[in-house]
Formats: sequence, structure tokens, C-alpha cells
Amino acid sequence: MEREKFYPTKRYLEFKNNAISDLENFWEKEAEKIPWFKRWEKVLVWDEPFAQWFVGGTLNASYTCIDVHMHTWRKNKVALYWEDENGNTKGFSYARLYRVVNRFASVLKNIGVEKGDRVILYLPMIPELPITMLAAARIGAIHSVIFSGFSSQALADRINDTGAKVLITADFGLRRGKLIPLKEIVDEALKNTPTIKKVILIKRTEEEIKMKKGRDFFYHELEEKAENYVEPEPMESNHPLYILYTSGTTGRPKGIIHSTGGYLVFNYATYKWVFDISDESVYWCTADVGWVTGHSSIVYAPLLHGATILMYEGAPDYPNVSRWWEIVEKYGVTIFYTSPTVIRMFMRYGEDWIKKYDLSSLKILGSVGEAINPEVWEWYYRVIGGERCPIVDTWWQTETGGIMMSPAPGLELVPLKPGSATLPLPGIDAEVVDEEGNPLPSGTKGYLVIRKPWPGMLMELYKDPERYKEVYWSKIKGMYYSGDYAIKDEEGYFWLLGRADEVLKVAGHRLGTAELESAVVENPFVAEAAVVSIPDPVKGEGIVLFVVLKEGYKPKDTLKKEIIRSLREQIGPIATPTEVYFVMKLPKTRSGKIMRRILRALVQGESIGDITTLEDESSVEEIKAAYEEFKHILKDK
Ligand code: ATP
Ligand code: MG
Repeated sequence: MEREKFYPTKRYLEFKNNAISDLENFWEKEAEKIPWFKRWEKVLVWDEPFAQWFVGGTLNASYTCIDVHMHTWRKNKVALYWEDENGNTKGFSYARLYRVVNRFASVLKNIGVEKGDRVILYLPMIPELPITMLAAARIGAIHSVIFSGFSSQALADRINDTGAKVLITADFGLRRGKLIPLKEIVDEALKNTPTIKKVILIKRTEEEIKMKKGRDFFYHELEEKAENYVEPEPMESNHPLYILYTSGTTGRPKGIIHSTGGYLVFNYATYKWVFDISDESVYWCTADVGWVTGHSSIVYAPLLHGATILMYEGAPDYPNVSRWWEIVEKYGVTIFYTSPTVIRMFMRYGEDWIKKYDLSSLKILGSVGEAINPEVWEWYYRVIGGERCPIVDTWWQTETGGIMMSPAPGLELVPLKPGSATLPLPGIDAEVVDEEGNPLPSGTKGYLVIRKPWPGMLMELYKDPERYKEVYWSKIKGMYYSGDYAIKDEEGYFWLLGRADEVLKVAGHRLGTAELESAVVENPFVAEAAVVSIPDPVKGEGIVLFVVLKEGYKPKDTLKKEIIRSLREQIGPIATPTEVYFVMKLPKTRSGKIMRRILRALVQGESIGDITTLEDESSVEEIKAAYEEFKHILKDK
């Protein structure tokens, strides 16, 4: 693919502009593309900052994702391929998925789950996870998926927030050759969760499991009495489909509520535009279903489109870094969607692990979760995409419900710029503004906001409308505050610069974390980098840099000097770091994002706060030790 050949045509720009100027008409046309039981009376009721979309319309998520295909040839097409680390596989046609979802829905009903009840899904990446989501949605229950890597405490906190009566789990998860005792973690959590009355257990192994009488039930036993068909409950468009907690990168996780109608319409439309998803797509999103990316990209959007989903239960580097590419080859994956963190990890190990496999089935590559550094983009484009596949750098949040900004090959491809999420999607009124909400001229950094409601937007925070108003709608009047920092270039392209509250103010200049980190990652020996600030009596804030080197490189003074030199060259002398630390790993959320707030707390000697979403505690210990040593050196000087 020659990147330069694509231009935003007049047609593309007109389509986008019309969408914004006639928002309701625009989204109404999109809503007509999915099946409703009853048409809406009003497209939008905007009682700022609460939006209701397609008011009065009724539909059912399970019906729109499965039943609808049962009347077509897709009935016998693969809906879901599943594979685990050991190479065990399962396949579900749409007909089989329909059957198992119905039976699970029947079990939920029989156990007493009613419309509006919250159901906790604490499940590993097995087919039962999408199945139970769809089963809950079928009877009008609200699912809340909790990432199965969370501890009992993190699980208990989220259960208590939702007030759920029923929890579904499995005996074990499987990761890196180890069995994760999910049921044990659940038992521990349930000591402090008075609302949970019943637990449904999916048995994967032959291991002995402790069951609490009257509370715990094996799914396979309950299923004996299940019906084959359960009428899908007609849900008003604004009935919640699910509650999902944010990644917790910046603080205490927030319980985001998504609607049914608006959420589905938004995801139906955007997956067509961004991924050009179709019947032929074999779609692999590597996220865990426990994150919003997994909800929209593994479950709802591909099924709405009748595509084939690939679901893999396993890490990218187990048993080695070839595993994922073997899978792409095996299933002929056409769309591959992952995060910059994972791509950086593959870069660390070199290309030989990948080159052995035939990746020619790939058509579109996606990136999500963090800004993708241009260096990493180029590598992804060349090594994985064979210089053939456009990269869709998709910017969105748990709160936005779906993709907000991205190249859109399904509409018409704009020229790609490595490191930029390019342009907002049609109907999305994104802007970069100052504290007062004034749009900033191109080249000026500011806050990324959305100025008009969109169908995928969160309804509110669960049981906390005040916090919803405060977090998203009070910072800049009349606009949705994303919390991200960005800049627009002279062609209107957006560049995400990191979190607004992590911006560094050095000698009067504002520097986004992503700008600095990208400059560091450009060094051929650097795998990953994170910056944070420390108070500096002269410059206001000084820069502290944490660097992870690629395989085969050892920390050396010459490397440190080279990093400092390249930073000064690319950003300017103000970007000279006060200190550079080489570490083996960075603290990350379980969704793979760098937790700079932990680094900042460590260097500033503050408490590190809520770390329930931290992936690996040893990263914190290592950084602490590196920093202590540095303080020592300072004292000795
Ligand atoms: P919390 O809100 O609890 O701190 P979180 O923001 O990490 O957690 P998510 O909703 O999973 O939780 O992540 C959304 C954030 O991820 C965005 O606000 C943005 O900072 C970042 N992000 C996602 N996609 C991109 C992208 N393509 N480019 C740059 N940043 C991105
Ligand atoms: Mg967030």
C-alpha cells in the first residue's frame, strides 16, 4: 500500500461535516441498519449532560447479534473460534451460539435473574464469557464483566458497587502454563459481598472444587433443566446493557454504564467505517473481554456484522513470542487489533519470531489503548502488515463506548500519519480547546473534548450521577472532557499527547508524556519509556525518565548520554532529563497501560494509592530500589 495515495476526498469531508450539522438525522440513518422490535419516538433527548438515544425504541442485544443471522446463510457460518495456550480449540457456528446462549439464558431465568438485575461475570477468556454476556442481555439483565486477573479485593469492591445477586465464574483460568484458581478467589471475595446469593460455576478441569451448598451451582447440572429457547426481552433503548469499570490508570476505577440502543448503533456504524468489517472478516482483537475493547471488539460489533471472531486465551509471549503469529496463520486472520504495549514487546524480541509465519491474510491492523509511537507504528506497518495493511490507530475510552477517532478504511482512507489517530469519525465533534473551551489553533496543545453527544456515550457512572457530572462535564463548560491532552496539526489531524493531568510543565513549556516517550523510543536500543515530573527549583518541573532496553542491551552511561542527546535534539534543551533510570519493566495496568501515577508517587515520595489494577507488583519494587540508590548517590556527592 502506498500511503500517500489516499486523500480525504471532498465526499469524505462532506459526509463528515453533514454528520455534525445534522446529528440526529445522521444517527437515525445508522440506527435503521440494525433490527429493532419497535421504532424510536425521538432520536435524542439531550438533558445536558445526560443523553438518551432512540427514546421509546425497543431491541435486544442478543437478538441483534445472533437471532438476526439465523434467518440467513450465516446460520451455518463460524461465529466464534476459540483456542487456548495448549492448542485446545472450539468452534461455534451462529446456530450453535444461538443454542447455547438460549440455554444459558434459560438457566439464568431459572435461578431467579430478572430484568434489570446485575450479573457479575468473573471468567477467563473462554467462549462462556461472550455467551453469558449475550445470555444476560437476552433476558434484560445488566452484565458487569470483571477482568479475571483481578484479586479478590478488587473483585469484591466492584461487586459491592454493582449490588449484583448472581456471579458466574469458572473453576480455573489458564495463563502461562499455570492454573489460576478463580473459584478460590471468588470464595475469598464473597466473604465481603452481602448481595451475592448465587454462584454459577463453569467446570473446565477435573480438579476437585469446594462448593457452598445453596449458593454454588455447577452450570452443567443447571443446564439439564434448561429450555432451548428463551424469548429475547424487548429492552427500551436506554436500558443499561452493561456496567464496566475503567482501567484505573489515573485513579480509582469508575463504573461506566452503557445503554443498549445507542451503544449497539454506534458500534455497528464505527466497525464498518474503521475496520471495513464484513462477512469475510476473521477478526482478532487481542484484548481481554474484561476491558471495553473486548466488549465492543470481541463481542458486540463483530457479531452485529455477522463476522467471525477469534478468541485466544493466552499471553503474547507464551510459550514464546511466535504463538500469536502462528494463530494468525492458522485461522487466516484478516483484521488484527492490539495495543502498542504488546507491539513494543514484540519489537523487543526481534523479527525472526514472526517471519516464519504467513501473515498474508491480514488486511487491516488496529492499535488501541495508548498513543502509538511513530517508531512502533512503522515497525507494525512493515513487519506485521508487510507494508500492505493500513493501521487504524483508534482513540477511544471505556466512557465513549466505541471508537471516536481513527482512520476509516471502510469509508475512505485518509493519508495515514504514523503516531496520529488522524481524524474524528463522522458525527464526532472532537476539538482541542483551552481551559475555557475555546478551540485552539493548529499546533497549540490543549484538552481533547467532545462538544456534542454521540450514541455510544456513557449514560452516567453507576449510582453516582454527581461524580459523572464532576469528572466529565465540569472541567470545561458544556463539553465532554476526555482527560487527554492533544494537538491538531495544520491538516486537522489529531495527535494524542498523553493524559492531561500528567502533562509536564518545564520552564514554562507544556510537554505531553507521549511526545517525550516517543522521542526516547526512537533510539534503536530502547523498548519502552515512561516520563514523570519532579519539582525543580529552577525549571518548575524536572523530567525523570524510566527506560526499558531491548533484549541484548545492557544499561550503560553511553546509552544514557545517547538518550539525553536525542531528546535534546528532537524536543529541545528543555527536555533534558534530570535523571534516567534503566529498569526491567514499567508498572502497567492489567490492560497494558503505563501507570505513570505510580512512578510519580515513587519519585515524589508520596503514597502510591489504589494499585488494584496493577499488573505486576515487582515492577514497583524494582523502581523503588533504583530510585533509593539514586538518592544515595546524590547524598554521597
Ligand atoms: P482510568 O480512566 O481509570 O484512568 P483508563 O483511562 O486507562 O483508566 P480506558 O478507558 O481503558 O481506561 O482507557 C482510555 C484511555 O486510553 C484514553 O483516555 C487514552 O488516554 C488512552 N488511549 C486509548 N486509545 C488511544 C489511542 N489510540 N491513542 C492515544 N491514547 C489512547
Ligand atoms: Mg480514563
